[in-house]
Amino acid sequence: MIVIMKANATKEQVDSIIKRVKKEGLDVQINQGKDHVVIGLLGDTRKMQDVAFNSYEGVENTVRISNTYKLTSREFHPQDTVVDVDGVKIGNGEFVTMAGPCSIEGLDQIRECARIAKAGGAQILRGGAFKPRTSPYAFQGLEEEGLKYIRQAADELGMKVITEVMDEGHIDMVAEYSDILQIGARNMQNFKLLASVGKTGKPIGLKRGISGTIDEWLNAAEYIAVQNNNNVIFIERGIRTYETATRNTFDLSAVPLIKKLSHFPIIVDPSHGTGIWDLVPPMARAGVAAGADGMIVEIHPDPANAWSDGPQSLNEKTYMKMMKEVQIMEKAMKEINSL
Ligand code: PEP
Ligand code: MN
Repeated sequence: MIVIMKANATKEQVDSIIKRVKKEGLDVQINQGKDHVVIGLLGDTRKMQDVAFNSYEGVENTVRISNTYKLTSREFHPQDTVVDVDGVKIGNGEFVTMAGPCSIEGLDQIRECARIAKAGGAQILRGGAFKPRTSPYAFQGLEEEGLKYIRQAADELGMKVITEVMDEGHIDMVAEYSDILQIGARNMQNFKLLASVGKTGKPIGLKRGISGTIDEWLNAAEYIAVQNNNNVIFIERGIRTYETATRNTFDLSAVPLIKKLSHFPIIVDPSHGTGIWDLVPPMARAGVAAGADGMIVEIHPDPANAWSDGPQSLNEKTYMKMMKEVQIMEKAMKEINSL
C-alpha cells in the first residue's frame, strides 16, 4: 500500500501518516518525488486496510499495490532512478558499457582487457574473481588476488569495477575492491545474500535468474531495496528455455517490461544471453533499441585461450566494431526518444 500526499502537503501531515502506520508496527519508506511525497507501507499491510487514510489532511490518494514488491515498483517511485557508480550514472539516458573478461586470469590479461574496453568507450571494467562454475573441477577464479588486479587495472585507466560476489562471507572483501557488486544468475534467489549486499549501500548488478520470472526478479530487487539500498541495476542475461541452439534465450522484452514495472535501470548482457560471439553485436544493438540503459559484455585479447566463456567473448577487433555500431544506435534512440 502507498499513500500519495498532495503536492502542498505539510511535513506535519506527512508525519501524522507515518505515526499512524508505525503505531501498527509497520515501517515506511518515503519517496520525495518531483511534486508529491509518496509513503510506502512496509510489512503486513492487511491490518491497515480499514484505515481511512484518504480522510487524513494532506492525502491525495491511497493505492493498494497488488504486487508483493513495492519499493521496486513504478507506483511507489514514478520517476526513473539513476544509479550513481562513483560518478558514472546509469539510467540517465546515456548508454553505459561495462566490458571485460569473464574471468580475471592475471594482471597482464586484465590490464590488456581494460585497455581494449576503454578504447571502445566502456567506462566500467568487468571480470570475475569468484566464478560460479557448473563443474567443481573448472577454474573457480583468482579470488582476492584477482580483485586486486582488476582494481589496479581499472584505476590505471580511470574506470569503475563490477565483479561478482557469491558468498555472504566475501561481501566485505569484494566491496573493498569493487564499485558494483554483481549478483550472478545462480544467486538471484539467494535471499540472505541479497539482503546482505543490500546493506552495503553499494550499487548492485542483479542478474536475472536462469529460470527467473519477471515477478521473481522484481521481488529479488525488493530484498535489496528494503535494506534502504536504491542502487539496483537489473541485468537481463537470458533465461533457459527449450531452445538449445543458443546458450540462453535472450529475453529483450524484459527491457521495456522492467522499465514499465520498475524505476530501477536495466542493462543487457548479450554475451551470456546468446553464448555465441558473433550473435553478441546484433543483440547489443537490439538492446539499445529496446531501451536498455547500458550493457555488460565479455571481451578477451585471445578468446580461443580464455579460461572461461571464450566462445562468447569478443576480440579487440570485433568489440571495437560493435561499439561503433552501438554508438550509431544510441544516436538513433536519442532521436526516437525526442519524438
Ligand atoms: C558472468 O557474468 O560471468 C556470469 C557468471 O554471469 P551469469 O551469472 O549471468 O551466468
Ligand atoms: Mn561469463
